[in-house]
Amino acid sequence: MPNETVPPQDPRALLRRHGLRCTAGRLRIMFLLRSSGQHLTPAEICTQLTRKGSGRHSTTVYRSLEALTAVGVLHAVPGPGPTRYGMSDEPHHHVACQRCGHVADLPSDPLADAVARIEQLTGLRPGTSGSLLLYGLCAACGD
Ligand SMILES: [Zn+2]
Ligand SMILES: [Zn+2]
Repeated sequence: MPNETVPPQDPRALLRRHGLRCTAGRLRIMFLLRSSGQHLTPAEICTQLTRKGSGRHSTTVYRSLEALTAVGVLHAVPGPGPTRYGMSDEPHHHVACQRCGHVADLPSDPLADAVARIEQLTGLRPGTSGSLLLYGLCAACGD
């Protein structure tokens, strides 16, 4: 099979392209985050891996998360609370609940004008994966 037909979201191809070894632990984390479609904390990732019968020492999970984030396979969303990790091919921004830390995706397209305006005003622009982070209150935490 020629290399170009490998779907870009193939986790193994993705790891190879970034020069990372395809360890079972890294692949499980990637599958978990992709299939969940959510942004999970390291503790949540450990719990879910254990539930699936492929638990790893939390130090190993942390190290994998750092390595995958450093090359851009995953992206990190800072707290409140522990940093959450996500994996998506779609550029997006994030909204985080300032009380419980719940993170939701914000598609980039509808915000293109706002982002252009922010760049005008501040000289900063989001990276390729989209990097606006807005804080608010989620439905569960709102008054
Ligand atoms: Zn995200
Ligand atoms: Zn909340």
